[in-house]
Amino acid sequence: MPRPGEVGVIPRPADGLPPVISSIPTRRKVVFLTIDDGWEQDPGFVAQVRDQRIPVAAFVTRDAVEARGATDPTAQGGRFLGAGKWRYVRDLRNAGATIENHTLTHPNLPALGYEGQKAEICGTSTLIRRHTGTAPTLFRPPFGNHNTLTRRAAKACGIDALLLWTATVQPGGKIAYQVPDKKLRPGDVLLLHFRPNLARDFEILVAKIRRRGFELGNLDAYLKAATSKTATR
Ligand SMILES: [Zn+2]
Repeated sequence: MPRPGEVGVIPRPADGLPPVISSIPTRRKVVFLTIDDGWEQDPGFVAQVRDQRIPVAAFVTRDAVEARGATDPTAQGGRFLGAGKWRYVRDLRNAGATIENHTLTHPNLPALGYEGQKAEICGTSTLIRRHTGTAPTLFRPPFGNHNTLTRRAAKACGIDALLLWTATVQPGGKIAYQVPDKKLRPGDVLLLHFRPNLARDFEILVAKIRRRGFELGNLDAYLKAATSKTATR
């Protein structure tokens, strides 16, 4: 949980649409873990999140969550493709993760019109609410691609903010930075995927982050702190 004064302000856009955020303004050495799509549904990862009380936000795509349980030829030994469907997402939520919106079909949104984008975003929010009891408040556009229509559609679907990322995590727990000096920074948002060996990679990553003196933060709590200030200004 952020302490008072530790979190800066995320400005509210003048157009009244949800902001696009890629990191949390804070000086505390804290980073945030986000995991996308939902193809590979390893129960070992749920146990990790639950037992180690690690805050994560999962951005799920319907077509990934509902994938048929056949072996994925590209999975490199993964055995959990589509294994748990929405039950897996619920288990993850029960383990402490927050479940957020990452579209129905993972399209390149700017190629769609307003109605098409709205169908992707609202459809996913409806599904998540139906299966977990809670509607998502964050949206991550596939590939990070978005335009003004995306923000309009997201607002119409009850989304508070679009969340991008500052670094991606590769197989083996290796961090691929988007900044040249290859350092974790306070407030960084890391992007992982539900893919084979996530549990192993996650363990390596969490150890690495802590070795560098960073904590793992609760995205919801920090975002609330960063945006509630804007509400009172
Ligand atoms: Zn994705």
